[in-house]
Amino acid sequence: MKLVLLGAAGSGKGTLAKNIVKDFGIPQLSTGDILREIAKSNSTLGKTIASFQQSGKLVPDEITFEVLKERLSKNDCKSGYILDGYPRTLNQAQLLAKVADIDAVISIELDFDEIVKRLVSRRNCPKCGEIDNTNYEGYNGLCRKCQTLLFQRDDDKPEAIKSRLEVYKQNITPLINFYGDKVFVVSSAGTPEETYKPVKTFLEGLKK
Ligand code: AMP
Repeated sequence: MKLVLLGAAGSGKGTLAKNIVKDFGIPQLSTGDILREIAKSNSTLGKTIASFQQSGKLVPDEITFEVLKERLSKNDCKSGYILDGYPRTLNQAQLLAKVADIDAVISIELDFDEIVKRLVSRRNCPKCGEIDNTNYEGYNGLCRKCQTLLFQRDDDKPEAIKSRLEVYKQNITPLINFYGDKVFVVSSAGTPEETYKPVKTFLEGLKK
């Protein structure tokens, strides 16, 4: 099963993808995560990627598509995958169509005000990868799973958030049109479980 997850930053793509991974046994490929790993290195490529990511701009297609192709060629992608964060533009969808036949596209919808609220309070764990937040009583800056000091992504700060949401707004309609009746729309206004339930039913139907 080859899936694409569409949704603005902070709409819950990562959380939904993790649920799909657990039940359907296909890997989650997050271009944001893959690019962030390369950006940590001191190489010229790493520095270029970091500068785009910090400002919330899209990393150029030549870089992103090469990085994705390399990941898709790995053994664990043979029986399918979930693309989390790719494609983000019509051009990227057209590039992807040259190397992969996508079975379905899940598009997550959430009000922009709610997205901004979620993004400014989002905190990440550098050790276990948990996506946590500051919105609960007794928040103490530590990961609730492994007690490591959480950090805030540079691009979860207000200026970068604005830029990321603008990029999303400009590109989502052409992408939805490109995938046509392969698109399954779900709202993430409720809990992660409520978001996942209809998606699970849809994917079980797709497998049959
Ligand atoms: P994410 O973790 O998905 O929110 O992505 C974080 C950042 O990584 C984005 O704001 C971009 O700078 C970069 N990025 C991730 N996926 C892509 C993509 N498909 N095309 C271009 N840049 C990307």
